Amino acid sequence: MYAPPPAYGAPPAYGAPAPVPYGYAPPPPPPAYYPPPQQAQQGPMIINLGNNNNSSGSPCGICGKDTDSIPRKKLGCVAWAWCICLLFTVGGYGLCFIPLCTDNCKDTELVCIKCQSVKQTIPANCC
Ligand SMILES: [Zn+2]
Repeated sequence: MYAPPPAYGAPPAYGAPAPVPYGYAPPPPPPAYYPPPQQAQQGPMIINLGNNNNSSGSPCGICGKDTDSIPRKKLGCVAWAWCICLLFTVGGYGLCFIPLCTDNCKDTELVCIKCQSVKQTIPANCC
């Protein structure tokens, strides 16, 4: 024989309105006062829609902005590899300098127009 457990699960009636005595008119509600809407505390929103955001620009690690870049050819590993390869295969001292004069064998450096620093280096194709 044991007593039934108390009804823990019965929720207290928080939402029930307080009983209003019959015949008692509740006071009119105070005039609604809406506080001015406060701006939500937001972090600094960075809208990357600057005027100088050209579609052709790329982000520069030095300037920190999107700037235009100037392509500049530079002798890279591909050109020197072709040069050495031609030197050993053809043996002509003239032919081996052809890759050094061909832009397709050179790397392309994108130079920032503002800080004149190399933003990106595009390696040349091997063929
Ligand atoms: Zn720059």
